[in-house]
Amino acid sequence: MLDLHVLGTASARPTTKRAVSGSVLACPEGLIIIDPGEGFQDRFTDARRHLKSELGTPRLRSRRVAAVLLTHGHLDHTWGLLPWLQTSGLDGRTEPLVVAGPIDAHTFDHVQEHGFSSPPPEGLAASDVWRQMRVWHDLGATKELLGYPITWRLGHVASGRWMDVTPDEAVESTPVWSPAGWAEHRLTPIVSRHSVPSCGWRIDGPSTALVVSGDTASPGLESDLHGPDVLVHEATYLEEHADRAQGHLHSTAAGAARTALHLGARGLALTHFSARLAEVGSSLGEAVAVLKEGVPCVALNDGDRLTVQPDGAVHHLSRGDVGWEAMLLVEGRR
Ligand SMILES: [Zn+2]
Repeated sequence: MLDLHVLGTASARPTTKRAVSGSVLACPEGLIIIDPGEGFQDRFTDARRHLKSELGTPRLRSRRVAAVLLTHGHLDHTWGLLPWLQTSGLDGRTEPLVVAGPIDAHTFDHVQEHGFSSPPPEGLAASDVWRQMRVWHDLGATKELLGYPITWRLGHVASGRWMDVTPDEAVESTPVWSPAGWAEHRLTPIVSRHSVPSCGWRIDGPSTALVVSGDTASPGLESDLHGPDVLVHEATYLEEHADRAQGHLHSTAAGAARTALHLGARGLALTHFSARLAEVGSSLGEAVAVLKEGVPCVALNDGDRLTVQPDGAVHHLSRGDVGWEAMLLVEGRR
């Protein structure tokens, strides 16, 4: 089973009810963090505490996290990583970790030629993922200070070029991969379209698949793999602000729905809502109007979960004061 804990559903500006991006995917082989925005470690701890009320659900132990996947380098998706890395070290983690994210072709060539620790070329954006990794390393994300090693994984998504870099070496790798010791789940970056190098991430289990979009225009995600059981897609704006969505390379809820149909997703979950939206009922309504019958949709709140069963059934678990309330979102495949 895949079990996605969605720990932030705001866009760049948090609200009293919604924090910035941050999700944890639990599967039998371990955990994966996607886009740890600011305050992530507090939300991770909170989710862990909340899970104690759920008997039989695997705990969120930080030492079980095998990889951190970044969809792009905007700080609302990355700023929480370093504090989480440091607390994991304090918790006694020794297991190696991979941190993966997209860069542009120019940066890829630069890092390959000059190495992880080389000075960034003039004019490189602060949102560049390699640049941030280098800073995290300088600020203490090293084996000596954390107590566990990190491999930084950088890729140019459109060309499929990826490499594993440490301060000592850069080794070519593959776009599709599994964390060390994992046999049944694969991670695949998916081309997306944002104002900085970006990708969505697809997680495939033996009979399940889930895609998390990151920030992207619509149409944006491109993949010729079979449709996922559920697509978690940003829906920053409503149609009345479609121009703004296009200008900032974000999506409207209707755009997210069109992308879900384009990818052949069996269900859609909306997230990353603008702070301007008083409530997300309109977002849900606009998405449902686009979706065909048989492609159900839900708007997520902080702390919600999406589970995908081996038969492809997707449940939306909305978080309550104690535990979660489960509702069938997508029927299992027959
Ligand atoms: Zn964002």
